[in-house]
Amino acid sequence: MTTSVLEPTLSNLHDEAALADDYDRLPCRVNDPELWFAEAPSDVEEAKALCTDCPVQQMCFSGALDRREPWGVWGGELFLQGVVIPRKRPRGRPPKNRESA
Ligand code: SF4
Repeated sequence: MTTSVLEPTLSNLHDEAALADDYDRLPCRVNDPELWFAEAPSDVEEAKALCTDCPVQQMCFSGALDRREPWGVWGGELFLQGVVIPRKRPRGRPPKNRESA
C-alpha cells in the first residue's frame, strides 16, 4: 500500500479543506479576505490570530513557503517576498530617536 503525500499547492489546500468538509470553516473564507492582505499592522495581526483556528493551517503555511508567496498572511504567518517576517511595519517614517540627537 502506498501513501500519497499531497503537495502543498493552493489547489490541494482547497481540495483538502473541501474533502474534510471544512471549506466553510476557513477563517479567510468566512471573514473579510482583505484582512489577509491588509496594510494596517493591527489588521495583519488579526488575520494571523484568525489563522490559528484554521483546519489546514500547516498545509497553508508549507505551501506559502514553497511558493515563496510575495505578500500576505498565510498559515498564520506574514510573508514578504517569499520569507516570513515577524510583523508589518506601519507606513511612514520611523519615529525620531530623541536620545541620539
Ligand atoms: S491558514 Fe489562514 S490563510 Fe491559510 S487557509 Fe487557513 S485561514 Fe486561510
